[in-house]
Amino acid sequence: MKGFAADYHVHSSFSFDARFSPARMVEGALEKGIGEICFTEHKDLDPFYNETGYYKDGPYSAEIAALQEKYRGRIVIKKGVEVDYQSSTEKEFQEFLGRHSFDFVLASVHALEHCFVDEGYFQGRSPGKVYEDYLREVLALSRLQSFDVLGHLDYFTRFSPEDHPFDPARHQGILREILKNLAKNGRGLELNTSGWRHGIGKPFPSPAILKMFREEGGEVVTIGSDSHHPRDLASRFTQGIELLQDAGFTGIYLFTGRKASKVPF
Ligand SMILES: [Zn+2]
Ligand SMILES: [Zn+2]
Repeated sequence: MKGFAADYHVHSSFSFDARFSPARMVEGALEKGIGEICFTEHKDLDPFYNETGYYKDGPYSAEIAALQEKYRGRIVIKKGVEVDYQSSTEKEFQEFLGRHSFDFVLASVHALEHCFVDEGYFQGRSPGKVYEDYLREVLALSRLQSFDVLGHLDYFTRFSPEDHPFDPARHQGILREILKNLAKNGRGLELNTSGWRHGIGKPFPSPAILKMFREEGGEVVTIGSDSHHPRDLASRFTQGIELLQDAGFTGIYLFTGRKASKVPF
């Protein structure tokens, strides 16, 4: 991979669904020549999830501090979080972010009505209705200013039925409203490259949505692999950066203590 790479979406064993230690992920990043790695461990808030309660800020912060010390001068390590957003737990979302400090806060919608949006969620539901419901939830999130970057905007396309693909053009009204809110509030949009690994042939969000974000005045973008395994770190970043450039972006953003700084391409 050419140029400076900063992977801003990485999970370790501090996330319920990942098993590699943060140190192992850092070693993987060094092997790949990645300059900066931002851990974004899952924080769930829904009382109906088994995973809620898994996140432990104290041990996580201590581990990041120790790794920053150990790897100083070799790789930059950041403490981030991926907070799950549902409108039903908005109060808890705001309280959590008020109580803890991070370098970077990614906010993502994974569930609707306490159910994770996956293949099973589409069964017995109209795909069009799932798309609308999910985007309405993202719209509610886009009004807030307590996070830094919106994660994998059209994540549901990972599971959408082949005979009813998601067409961003048909949902332009709500998509532009979301993207306008982000731009107006100085929030960013993530380019999440994991879609390519999951075999859907595109990142999250779709390139058309990246273009819309730029048209609506969007400037802040991060790129993340959503790795749960060291082999996936910075995967497809070259392609991802090409898409960002095609959409009119001129650099990616890094975060320190919630403050953004731009690295031109
Ligand atoms: Zn996520
Ligand atoms: Zn993630």
